[in-house]
Amino acid sequence: MDTTLALAWVREIASAVEEHEAQLTELDSAIGDGDHGSNLRRGFTAALAALDGLDPASVGAALSRTGTTLISKVGGASGPLYGSAFRAMGTALPGERADAAEFGAALAAGLAAIRRLGAAEPGDKTIVDAWTPALAAFELAAPTGFAAAAEAAAGAAEQGMRDTVPLQARKGRASYLGPRSIGHQDPGATSTALLFRALARVAE
Ligand code: ADP
Ligand code: MG
Ligand code: MG
Repeated sequence: MDTTLALAWVREIASAVEEHEAQLTELDSAIGDGDHGSNLRRGFTAALAALDGLDPASVGAALSRTGTTLISKVGGASGPLYGSAFRAMGTALPGERADAAEFGAALAAGLAAIRRLGAAEPGDKTIVDAWTPALAAFELAAPTGFAAAAEAAAGAAEQGMRDTVPLQARKGRASYLGPRSIGHQDPGATSTALLFRALARVAE
């Protein structure tokens, strides 16, 4: 990962969010308030604008700027959660390049930030349920190289996303539904899978 790839990752997330906005909205309409797609589109569109013309001095600079923008532009739960994750990843990547092991440590810092802020455990039907297996898969495959690790992480995030369907939500708006949240895929776990798939795409 270098600064060019970091910028490309954020751009790829923005286009994936735009492409899947309706799906994210539909999922959030079933168990939330129907704004997850528009929240993330607004956030990542603003992040693109904030990165425009930026020549980041480090891999982390682009990610930190993205995180700060998400926190300031997205009112829903996902803005501060993803925003904190990107800022934590940014802080963990102060160099001009990062190898797979270093990037894995940054992903771990991102998850720690999400859990510090949101206090969700694995199994609570949140972002954590896609990010946790993605991190584990990335770390396991890191010795085989960045692209392979990113591909493994994307697959694991997608599995984690699908595995949220039978869960009952215990955090966020969906938890207000109690057992009626069962049988629906979590919107945040779905956007986390998009984020890791975007990483695999730019890393290949
Ligand atoms: P809001 O619920 O405020 O409208 P969004 O719709 O943008 O915000 O995001 C909803 C998603 O945020 C949920 O699908 C869930 O994955 C995630 N989420 C909510 N609360 C938490 C939490 N405490 N920890 C981790 N993720 C959470
Ligand atoms: Mg919502
Ligand atoms: Mg909302």
